[in-house]
Amino acid sequence: MSFRDIKGQDKAIQILKEHLKNSRLAKSYLFTGPEGVGKKLVAKQLSKAVNCQEADLEPCDTCVSCLKIEKGGHPDIHLIDNGRDEIKIEDIRILQAGIKLRPYEGKHKVFIINNAHNLNVASANAFLKTLEESPGESLIILVTDKPALLPKTIISRCQVIKFCSLQRPELEEILKKDYSLQNNLAHFLAYFCEGRIGRALNLKDADILEAKNSVIDEFALAERLDLENLFPRDRDEMRDSLNILAGWFRDMYLIKAGLPHSEMINLDRKAELLLQMQHFSFLELDGILKFISNALLYLEQNINVKLLQSNLKAELWKQ
Ligand SMILES: [Zn+2]
Repeated sequence: MSFRDIKGQDKAIQILKEHLKNSRLAKSYLFTGPEGVGKKLVAKQLSKAVNCQEADLEPCDTCVSCLKIEKGGHPDIHLIDNGRDEIKIEDIRILQAGIKLRPYEGKHKVFIINNAHNLNVASANAFLKTLEESPGESLIILVTDKPALLPKTIISRCQVIKFCSLQRPELEEILKKDYSLQNNLAHFLAYFCEGRIGRALNLKDADILEAKNSVIDEFALAERLDLENLFPRDRDEMRDSLNILAGWFRDMYLIKAGLPHSEMINLDRKAELLLQMQHFSFLELDGILKFISNALLYLEQNINVKLLQSNLKAELWKQ
């Protein structure tokens, strides 16, 4: 993979290439933008570009350095990725110890901190010091979809590069053309993932249409209210189900408001959606969407998932 294989981020890549070309690379970058649009991929390609043994702008992808970075085994490329968990001061201490040493075999040491908004107060303070003192041959790349949660003092010391989602029809075309997805699946993924290609590609092999439709059948189109036999879900599955239902009712709301049918997320179930839509007023749909968005918030606050699930089902049934 190389810069040219990353779809829809031409502007961000163009800026970075300009920096590379004019040797104006910043010591620290902050990549911001929605989840799943390619920020981490670009960080990886930039790590390759600054260390490539063959080329300067577009990594060659064949030299030892590029190959090691692609596989995640280059000793000078360090990734801090704690998922949703806090980035602790110990993580930053390891970074601080490493950044002082010269590159082991590459030209530049690169430190990528994913979900940088998860720095806690102590680690953010420690990290700020590193940003101020970082030696010339190292490159720091912070990646986040929630830059508002980062201290301004950190942001102001980074060169900010903004990433954006693809247009949905554009993503739909890419999924059909470059990934040979069927029309229904490509359309659903492009709209459900709101143009975020990384998320769409993560979901493309997961029988997502089938899974999506079983959530809609269970909650939105069920013929009777059966709270005894709810399909057991963990927190992540519940989040996905809520997002699917939000898409279903948002479709109704927007179609009622005049959105063209081709723009609906659930185009594969258009007939059923249009039929069910007749039973809801704007006010009722608004109430359901609020309920779902509150449920998503409660889910972040450790609410009992089973309870949430039966409340949701009862709420939708009430209509
Ligand atoms: Zn190379």
